[in-house]
Amino acid sequence: MSDRIAVIGAGQMGNGIAHVCAVAGHDVVMIDVSQAALDKGKGTIEKNLDRQVKKGALDEAAKAATLSRITTTTTMDAIASAAFVIEAATENVELKHKIFADMDRVAPAGAILATNTSSISITEIAGRVKRPESVIGMHFMNPVPVMQLVEVIRGLVTSDDVTARTVALAKGVGKTPVEVNDYPGFVANRILMPMINEAVYCVMEGVGTPEAIDQVMKLGMNHPMGPLTLADFIGLDTCLAILEVMHKGLGDPKYRPCPLLRKYVAQGWLGKKSGRGFYTY
Ligand code: NAD
Repeated sequence: MSDRIAVIGAGQMGNGIAHVCAVAGHDVVMIDVSQAALDKGKGTIEKNLDRQVKKGALDEAAKAATLSRITTTTTMDAIASAAFVIEAATENVELKHKIFADMDRVAPAGAILATNTSSISITEIAGRVKRPESVIGMHFMNPVPVMQLVEVIRGLVTSDDVTARTVALAKGVGKTPVEVNDYPGFVANRILMPMINEAVYCVMEGVGTPEAIDQVMKLGMNHPMGPLTLADFIGLDTCLAILEVMHKGLGDPKYRPCPLLRKYVAQGWLGKKSGRGFYTY
């Protein structure tokens, strides 16, 4: 089998994952339902590679070679030649089931079926496909080219071989994998999202302005960025979806999404990607 990687979804995460895989020498096909998302994703990769060239981390030849390794398409058929499929589409459980059904149908035997989901149960996704032992969580952090961590999440029946190959891929693209177990939100978002949600409650209740709240956490806790700025970067729709999964999956009211977060998402204020969230971009 080739070492070709298919990345499904060309949004903020998908294009970042395609970027780091192609820099590391893999052929990558990026798949999205939207041609506009593919064009934007490829444009973002080019911009981020330029930034790496300016910093001296890459040279022009490496940039050109990286871009030549990335193709894009709107059809799932491209999965047929991939050894590794990484799903990074919108955080919605029904959508993930639909995409995994396609992955199960099209991917060659032995291929790894990974998901970059932030919170949805790996076992639940795996439970609907014919090869659940091949399904694994590979949770990259945003922005992918910069952040070191990949949370590797085993479902109930994920095989040792699939886990070992996923850990090896993460290391091969320059990341540090950390293995965790499959519970809603895993570790990163189980701890991060309650903090972001509490910061949104502080805005709603008038405890402080977004600027004041972010400054308290930056200056007082030494966080590199405040929780509301971070929420805008993650995407408020994604934050809401993660909180919903944790609330439903863990059943504890402490995970209930703040009504102000729901209101912003309903209005289309999704953070940086839509130009407006807690801040204006
Ligand atoms: P995004 O909104 O930027 O991109 C999602 C992309 O998925 C869009 O381009 C959309 O067109 C595409 N898509 C929708 N349906 C599709 C389908 N059927 N087939 C192919 N593509 C489809 O979202 P994102 O922030 O990149 O998040 C993607 C995934 O990564 C989610 O599961 C999210 O939870 C996870 N994640 C996000 C972050 C973050 O900080 N944003 C961090 C880690 C993981």
